[in-house]
Amino acid sequence: MIVDLRSDTVTRPGKEMLEAMINARVGDDVLDEDETVHELERKLALMFNMEAGLFCPSGTMTNQIAIKCFTQPMDEVICDETAHVYRYEGGGIAFNSASSVRLLYGDRGRLTPELIEAEINPVDLHYPKSSLVVLENTVNRGGGSCYTLEQIEPIYHLCRLKNLKLHLDGARLFNALIKTGDKASGYGAMFDGISICLSKGLGAPVGSVLLASEETIAKAKRIRKVLGGGMRQAGFLAAAGIYALDNHVNRMQNDHDHAALLETSLNSLPFIKKVLPVETNIVIFELDDRYDASHFVEKLKDLGIKCNTFGKQKIRFVTHLDVSEDMVQYTLDQLKKLH
Ligand SMILES: *Cc1c(COP(=O)(O)O)cnc(C)c1O
Repeated sequence: MIVDLRSDTVTRPGKEMLEAMINARVGDDVLDEDETVHELERKLALMFNMEAGLFCPSGTMTNQIAIKCFTQPMDEVICDETAHVYRYEGGGIAFNSASSVRLLYGDRGRLTPELIEAEINPVDLHYPKSSLVVLENTVNRGGGSCYTLEQIEPIYHLCRLKNLKLHLDGARLFNALIKTGDKASGYGAMFDGISICLSKGLGAPVGSVLLASEETIAKAKRIRKVLGGGMRQAGFLAAAGIYALDNHVNRMQNDHDHAALLETSLNSLPFIKKVLPVETNIVIFELDDRYDASHFVEKLKDLGIKCNTFGKQKIRFVTHLDVSEDMVQYTLDQLKKLH
């Protein structure tokens, strides 16, 4: 058996999703003629109570476009030090937006209004202009930790008061919604931009959608073109996203249950120092000082279990659509045999 716990990006489209893709009505989306792309953008915008959406090839692109829309050169972006926009987007904030970054140290990636307020620069020519706050929900490096809308609301108020834009990297926002029970529609009022990945827990092969006001999306569309992200008959890909939204949201609870089972099992193993509390579909754990993460990953690989290191002594498991109950049981059995 092969169990792939490296990431929720490794899922492959099933037969029904592929059928939805084959049957999509498409057109040239650069000419604004692809009705399936329009349907996907409208569907998500309505769901999150935002004015408009823009389908892009990746979450990196939706995040980078949003940052470009919400900053000017010499501005500063405020985010947690774990943030994907800072760590895993290749230095894109500097390259695309010529802005600097102010890093905060939140609770497993989650910020508070107090943390943010202390780092907003005064208006003074020495300082870059604080213009944008980026939150991530769920937080990848936080072990899938999430914010409730109630926790986000005071951050939203602070941003309004201080004239800062607020963007959400919601690569795994549906995992957060399943966990918290918050309504998607509550998000629209809080954020200037929301990026949603279709290719993570939702299980589509490609794509992310940026949600924002009509005005921002018009600007975003131009930036997408400049970045080379204008796609032609993209409806084939959008159809997979629509299928995923219709069929793969509620089932995410399974992934969370599987992650919780792995957490319990890992916590009972003597050579594991710490497991970050599991909230959604990510399990990050730290090995005893005697063990080395890359060695542990190799050992699991020999047993057919694929996972990634997440630091010298840390390992990450991610559960998803293509990790079945049997695969989780197999993993639990194999873990028990390790020493
Ligand atoms: C995956 C991910 C993204 C987007 O990554 P792409 O690989 O460009 O789609 C953005 N933010 C977070 C937190 C992610 O996990």
